[in-house]
Amino acid sequence: MKSGYDFVIAGGGVVGASVAFHLAQLSDALIALFDRGEVCSGGTGRSCAIIRSHYSVASNTALTLRSLDVFRDFREALGEDDVECGFVNSGYLILSGPGAFADRLADNLARQRALGADTSPIRRAEARELHPWLELGDVAAVGWEPASGYADPVATTNGYVTAARRRGVAVFENTPVERLHLASNGGPSAGHVIGVTTPDGVVEAGCVVSAIGPWTRGLHADSGLSDDAEALRLRVSRHVVLTFGGASPYGSELPVVKDLTVDNKMYFRPAVGGDVLVGTGDFGDPLEDPDRMTAAAPGELVSLQQAQIGARMPAFEGARLTDSWVGPYDITPDWNPVLGPAPGRPGLYLAYGFSGHGFKMAPAIGRCVAQSLLGEAPDVDLEPYRPERFEEKALLLGAYGAGSIS
Ligand SMILES: Cc1cc2nc3c(=O)[nH]c(=O)nc-3n(C[C@H](O)[C@H](O)[C@H](O)COP(=O)(O)OP(=O)(O)OC[C@H]3O[C@@H](n4cnc5c(N)ncnc54)[C@H](O)[C@@H]3O)c2cc1C
Repeated sequence: MKSGYDFVIAGGGVVGASVAFHLAQLSDALIALFDRGEVCSGGTGRSCAIIRSHYSVASNTALTLRSLDVFRDFREALGEDDVECGFVNSGYLILSGPGAFADRLADNLARQRALGADTSPIRRAEARELHPWLELGDVAAVGWEPASGYADPVATTNGYVTAARRRGVAVFENTPVERLHLASNGGPSAGHVIGVTTPDGVVEAGCVVSAIGPWTRGLHADSGLSDDAEALRLRVSRHVVLTFGGASPYGSELPVVKDLTVDNKMYFRPAVGGDVLVGTGDFGDPLEDPDRMTAAAPGELVSLQQAQIGARMPAFEGARLTDSWVGPYDITPDWNPVLGPAPGRPGLYLAYGFSGHGFKMAPAIGRCVAQSLLGEAPDVDLEPYRPERFEEKALLLGAYGAGSIS
């Protein structure tokens, strides 16, 4: 390990990996990526990896559209002929009942089209042709994105890490950043971040990018920065994903479905082995410590999702639970990420708070963050994601309220 780098990135999830790759693609900088475990051992490895452009926050749509281009041609985008992201172009359906959500859905579709998204309102009969398993009697509005789908989060992250390594990035797995290394008291740069401390000692850095998601507060606290930790305004929650098996196999090309008719804004998509994967989007259990996440799927949740999926797809009535897993969300007050230099802490760049919807944006975010770090104008302005927005009460709230579909 060298004693100093231009950029040290803490966190080898999809965000840290994408930032590392893009920095290496765009510059000759010396770059190191650290993960406390293996690459992709955090939230990314638990992700459902659904890709859709349906957002009401314009910059989220812009970032997702750029990312979609990458998922569609991952090898070309990374300049490597042996990487995979596992993109399945199944399309994406979003369903709303009557009332306010139906109007917002129509407005959002128009807004996304204005930004270049291929998305449109369709009739229920058309939706049934696209997805014959659906029962849509209670549905008032349907949006359709033919270009969207889902990918493989582990393959995607490994793809970025492979491509980053080949461009000279030093990747250290099983090497936690134990503390941010601060310039010592007395000088004009006291309190600036000038590196990180790892079990192998201090590693100096021109800039540290913190991309450790749910663990962000802990690193600040361990670095003696409890006020900074509070200012992150980050909370963590535990989310359960269930898979169900029906009487006949659920095809891998069936569209992803987002169901706004139910309070928990359920989503579902094909899983491996002909099962359907179901998640609740916004409903999770608060978690004090992301390292103390129990794996259990509560019986009431299983029964609720079983009933919901059976009501939406009668072929899944009484379906059997085949698998479940849990993963952490790092949630900010407006359910949108924080991207930018840490206020009052020169030398530190923050990239956290992806609030359960960061996978689909990670390719473009990595590029835009890298461009900003290198002093270039980013493809998409990251100003709306500035850390100061909570203090300024300039929240980035979406049309459906705070949640992962903002
Ligand atoms: C159940 C679930 C379903 C989801 N579904 C979707 C979806 O369908 N679509 C979508 O777009 N998004 C989805 N998401 C959200 C998306 O997966 C995340 O927003 C995204 O993966 C976050 O990536 P990250 O790199 O910021 O964080 P992480 O993947 O959590 O990476 C952080 C990394 O930092 C490492 N780390 C922690 N502490 C340290 C330290 N001190 N030093 C070094 N390394 C450290 C961890 O080991 C980890 O690898 C889902 C998330 C979950 C949990």
